[in-house]
Amino acid sequence: MENDYRKWRGEKRGKRAMEAFREKGWNVWYAEDRAEAKALLLGTCLPKGVTVGLGGSETLAALDVLPVLRTPDYQLFDRYNCADHFAVCRDSLMAEYFLTGANALTIKGEMVNIDCSGSRVAAMAYGPHHIIVVAGVNKIVDTLDEAVARVRAIAPMNCKRNNHKTPCVETGFCADCNIPSRMCNHLLVTYNAQKFAGRFNLIIINEELGF
Ligand code: SF4
Repeated sequence: MENDYRKWRGEKRGKRAMEAFREKGWNVWYAEDRAEAKALLLGTCLPKGVTVGLGGSETLAALDVLPVLRTPDYQLFDRYNCADHFAVCRDSLMAEYFLTGANALTIKGEMVNIDCSGSRVAAMAYGPHHIIVVAGVNKIVDTLDEAVARVRAIAPMNCKRNNHKTPCVETGFCADCNIPSRMCNHLLVTYNAQKFAGRFNLIIINEELGF
């Protein structure tokens, strides 16, 4: 039964957050699971034939969209399969669409992300024409302070995932390091999406996905 209660809570919180994001100018969809989210992403949000950039995301990986994006139906800037990662990430800033996860969402409609190089938050802030964010309900917290705390708390896991040589990978705890391989360099808060109507799109998924 515990899983049923989590699903119930996830739906309530996800739909409350949806309304808040809508009021702030986002296009928002709700998906009961990753399969529904994948169908929404590929069938409704992302047209075929467009150029696509990617932010590193465990949630996108869980949706298993990369094989589809690598088909001739899309023009993918493939950051995972390239000779020059820096160049591909720069090119991605000019893509028509950018797909990414989120590090934290608030129930009041704010999004918080932290980056190493800044390529992902740069794209979100002022890059591609359309940003599509996929996020499990586990990313939703109540306040902006909690969102910032969340992104700092999950940072060691991201370092581990990306094989960064950082103190937190050794200990599991943040040491607020001051080294070139530090991952926590750029913090972006997206307070509002009214500036460019329709630019920000969000699929909230009633599953625990990513960190
Ligand atoms: S500041 Fe450094 S030690 Fe702390 S989580 Fe980020 S990379 Fe790890």
